[in-house]
Formats: sequence, structure tokens, C-alpha cells
Amino acid sequence: MGKSSKDKRDAYYRLAKEQAWRARSAFKLLHLDETFNLLGPDVHRVVDLCAAPGSWSQVLSRVLIKGECLGRRAWEAKTRRDRRALVAGIEELEKQLKKEEMEDESYELDDEGLRPREGVRIVAVDLQPIAPLEGVERLVADITHAGTIPKILKLLDGEEVVQGTEEAKDESKRQPVDLVISDGAPDVTGLHDLDIYIQAQLLFSALNLAIRVLKPGGKFVAKMFRGKDVDLIYAQLRCFFGKVTCAKPRSSRASSLEAFVVCEDFQMPKGFKPEEELPLGIGGQVRLPKRDQKTRAERSEAFVDGQRRSVREDGVTVIEFENGDEEDEAAESRWIAPFVACGDLSSWDADATYHLPSDHVSLDPIQPPTNPPYKKALEERRRKGGLYGKTKK
Ligand code: SAM
Repeated sequence: MGKSSKDKRDAYYRLAKEQAWRARSAFKLLHLDETFNLLGPDVHRVVDLCAAPGSWSQVLSRVLIKGECLGRRAWEAKTRRDRRALVAGIEELEKQLKKEEMEDESYELDDEGLRPREGVRIVAVDLQPIAPLEGVERLVADITHAGTIPKILKLLDGEEVVQGTEEAKDESKRQPVDLVISDGAPDVTGLHDLDIYIQAQLLFSALNLAIRVLKPGGKFVAKMFRGKDVDLIYAQLRCFFGKVTCAKPRSSRASSLEAFVVCEDFQMPKGFKPEEELPLGIGGQVRLPKRDQKTRAERSEAFVDGQRRSVREDGVTVIEFENGDEEDEAAESRWIAPFVACGDLSSWDADATYHLPSDHVSLDPIQPPTNPPYKKALEERRRKGGLYGKTKK
């Protein structure tokens, strides 16, 4: 398929090149941000997992380092300008607006229309090398590998933390992060169930990492495929986060199973300690140690939607209701997260094919892959002179 026909078939592919994003995925993060305010003014420290070629890190760099007004912030600034225009000359409303703006000063921009933040730390990790980006620390590593966690911690802390040492164990000395995002996708095999399973394992690797670095109240966003057992994943995430939502950005094709779990309000379950030798994952449930199995009166955690969940040592999830009832959830813990479509729904349709003007010039991608896994195969094919080797004469 040519560049031009892909421009037609995929509006976000074309827009990404026009707006200088390294990949169309940038729009997914911007659309998620519009709904969940992921990059709000109090966000300074972020880990971007599975980040190559780096469009999510580009968004982070432009919003946090350069202080650009993108996504939700662009939308809010526009709303404020519209409101300003609307009430111009109406004294009473102007006063009200001023008061609102003072309360919401965090979104005010400087004279150049920018608002760079202080103390920003962005760490981007991928199996593939990522081309340099302003203010982004890059790491080539496998997120499913336990050895990757100390490397990320080192980049976050700016100092060596040797795995297994007392220093590495003392989590309290670390400055935690506000947000962990993961757009991880394994190479698709085409075997549906296998792809969904591997994707879920990648999500759990990201979660294992997130619970080591997130601050209480922090957020975690990860790509997932909505397979038939997705409710098990939601249930496990609910053990760590006050709110879990399944979100589908406008820029993600409706025809694809892809969605994102947006987990807000991180709280480490009482008594739970992440263990490198015993990572969370499919096939095992979050097990809290016995000392956490207190009586209802002893517990003080908040109820969410009138319910509070915990996992007994035998692996069964217990649901407590605000009225004092308590029940064991079905054999495995299952829970359906609310589904939210995000981004401007009247904007470009990711599944539609658009007509392009006759003078349309197709642009080259901003950042070609630095070292893609298929590079060797392409070289081999070139060497042999075609897809199936040299053609017989
Ligand atoms: N968010 C990126 C962006 O905006 O440019 C796009 C990410 S791309 C869809 C998926 C990435 O996941 C690939 O670059 C791949 O190398 C990475 N990946 C897959 N498995 C991984 C693993 N085990 N560890 C680290 N990265 C992984």
C-alpha cells in the first residue's frame, strides 16, 4: 500500500505526519488526556513504557518540558477564551470569571503561551532504541524482565540503586511518580487468543512496574485487548486503584479490540508488598497476607460505588457492601469496568476512508523505526532479490 492511499485510509496517520508526531498513537494519549486529565498541572514525573518510536514521550515532552498547551489543556484554554469573549463588557460576569481564573491559575499560560513545569522527570522504555527527545531519559530494556525495574528506578532517582541492597529495598527514600503509561504491544501472531494472552502479560508487567514507582493517588494507563477474560484483569487492577475505566480513544479503530485501562487513585493494599520473585500476572490473583484480613470494623478504607473489595488468602475476592453485607465473589474474581469513549467524537473517524484533495502531497514519517525487529528480514529479502528469493528465468 502506498503512502498516499494510507493517508486516505487512515486520517490519524496523515495528521500525525502533518503535526510532526512520530506515530499516530500520539492522538490516543491526547484523547485519553481530554477525558481523564492525565497530564494535569500537578503531574511532573512520568514513566512511559513500550515507548518507541516515541510519540507518547513527544506529547509528554511538549506538555511537561516545553509547557505547550495540548489536548485537554488546549481545549480548556479555548473554552476560557470563548467564555471571555462571551462575557466581554458584562461587569458582573467578568468578576466571576476572574475569580474562577484565580482558582484555576495552574492552567494560566505565560506571555509566550507556554507553561513549562519544574522538577519534571520523564523515563521512556522500549525493546527498541528511541531517538532522542528533549527532557526524556531513554532506556532500551524489556519490561517483562525483573532487571528492568532497578534500571528505571536509577533513571528516576538519578543515582545507582543496586538490586537486592538495603537501599534498593527502602522504597520510602524514593521520589515516586505521578503517572505510568504503557502502550505496549507484542508482535501479533494472528492467533487471537494467544495475542490477547501475551498482551495481558505485557499489561501485568507494566502493572508490576507501576506499583513499584507510583505515588499514592497516582495513575496508570495501559493498552489492552478486550478479550473474553478481561474482567479478571479489571478485578485485579481494582485491588490497587480506586477507579478503573476501560477507555476507547476516538483515534483507536472501532474495528480493533484495542482499548486502554485508565486506573486512577493508586493505593497499595494494606500489607501487600510487591515481590520480584512473585510478580502479579494472569493465573494468580493478588493475595494479601493474613494480617490484612481484619474485621470490617478495623478497616478504614473508603467504599467505591458502595462496595469495597479485598482478596482473602485463599484467593477469593470478598465484597463488602456499605450496608454491612458481605459476600464472596464467584470462584474467580470478575468485575466489569465502565466503558468510556474519549476524544472529540465528531472528529476524524479512525475507520473511515477520506477523499484527499488532488494536490495532496504525502509526507514521509517523522521518525522511521531505528532498529525494527523486521529489519533483518528486509535485508535478507533484499539480498535474495525478492519476497520468495530470485525468480526463475
Ligand atoms: N507509544 C508508542 C508511541 O507513541 O510511539 C508506540 C508503542 S508501539 C504501539 C508498541 C511498542 O511496544 C513497540 O515499540 C515494542 O517494541 C514495545 N514492546 C513490546 N514488548 C515489549 C517489552 N517486553 N518491553 C519493552 N517494550 C516492548
